[in-house]
Amino acid sequence: MNLYNIKHPTEQVSFAQAVRQGLGKDQGLFFPETIPQLHNIDELLALPLVERSQKILGALIGDEIPTDKLNAMIENAFTFPAPVAKVADNIYALELFHGPTLAFKDFGGRFMAQALATVRKDGKITILTATSGDTGAAVAHAFYGLENIEVVILYPKGKISPLQEKLFCTLGGNIRTVAINADFDACQALVKQAFDDETLRQTIGLNSANSINISRLLAQVCYYFEAAAQLTAEQRQNLVVSVPSGNFGNLTAGLIAKTLGLPIKRFIASTNANDTVPRYLQTGEWSPNATVATLSNAMDVSRPNNWPRVEELFKRNGWNLSELGSGALNDAQTETALKAQYAQGYLCEPHGAIAYQVLSEQLQAGETGLFLCTAHPAKFKESVERILDIELPLPEALDKHNKLPLLSDEMDADFVALRAYLLK
Ligand SMILES: *Cc1c(COP(=O)(O)O)cnc(C)c1O
Repeated sequence: MNLYNIKHPTEQVSFAQAVRQGLGKDQGLFFPETIPQLHNIDELLALPLVERSQKILGALIGDEIPTDKLNAMIENAFTFPAPVAKVADNIYALELFHGPTLAFKDFGGRFMAQALATVRKDGKITILTATSGDTGAAVAHAFYGLENIEVVILYPKGKISPLQEKLFCTLGGNIRTVAINADFDACQALVKQAFDDETLRQTIGLNSANSINISRLLAQVCYYFEAAAQLTAEQRQNLVVSVPSGNFGNLTAGLIAKTLGLPIKRFIASTNANDTVPRYLQTGEWSPNATVATLSNAMDVSRPNNWPRVEELFKRNGWNLSELGSGALNDAQTETALKAQYAQGYLCEPHGAIAYQVLSEQLQAGETGLFLCTAHPAKFKESVERILDIELPLPEALDKHNKLPLLSDEMDADFVALRAYLLK
């Protein structure tokens, strides 16, 4: 698999290099040079998740990684199901929260850990990543205990749910966590700065594990096929998929699935009040506001990192951005949506509720709607219990960590301080 840097197309790398490096020159994102067309979609859909994913990722990544190895990576990463649940007459939920950290980021995180362990060279590796909540947990758990890999995770202090924090800041070992006194965008900016520091990068073998790493995105392609596999051929004919979006990695993966040939009529990018993309699609003007904290905090991103990849896919496929649906909900509307879903008999959480609501407002006659449920309701226990006036028992995976002490360090959004910390 060959990839190029979107900012500097002459910079070209293999899959292994892209996984090791994360980002290209000038913080440019790597993008596959070619995405094959799969012609046996119906046959693929008839296969079980792991076997199908081995074929999809085999086609995407090519012979760079021996088939046996790639197959083993996928088997180790995809150890949990992604069921589709019926929510309303023509609306279905794809539940992506049945992994070890109860969020969809387990798919990408676990596959990336496998990929990096496979393509790594000798010497130290430091994973540095910024999280708005769930990436941190997925990355920490996917890499926990791996030899010769250090993990440093930055997150905005006080801006992620206490449970989210407990899930990844209680591990210790090769996992260090840092609460930054700023918002997620500032954390992300620190990570980018670190990658621009060539000396630092070489010294500690810097690698990013957030959704800018191409291996994460490729893994996520597989669950769009898994969703389609659980629908009937008729439902697949006019399928509309609503994606709760923050950094836009999830939507990018969906668009890659469509490029591969998965029949998806159109996508809807659903956001909270951090609505840079919905406003851009309506006005043509890219004008991010300051990030605001919302109930759906994993989507509190006003400068989505993966957006250049979305535009690249549209351009390369000759699609028009006007075909991309979008919608944004504020917190009051999110609460209303969550209640409406609950009244339908489906318990969700704020991110999935937004995707559901925007979808149900925009779905047309004859279409089947699918929305992505990106986190387990219990990960947002405080909000969900208050809004729905119910009690939510903690799943065992969360309860275990909830009882442990936090091990995080604290820091201002100051690159000099972070640099010293990383070199320590
Ligand atoms: C990360 C996350 C999102 C946003 O996904 P992107 O790929 O960054 O757009 C949505 N919901 C939850 C629960 C998340 O953790």
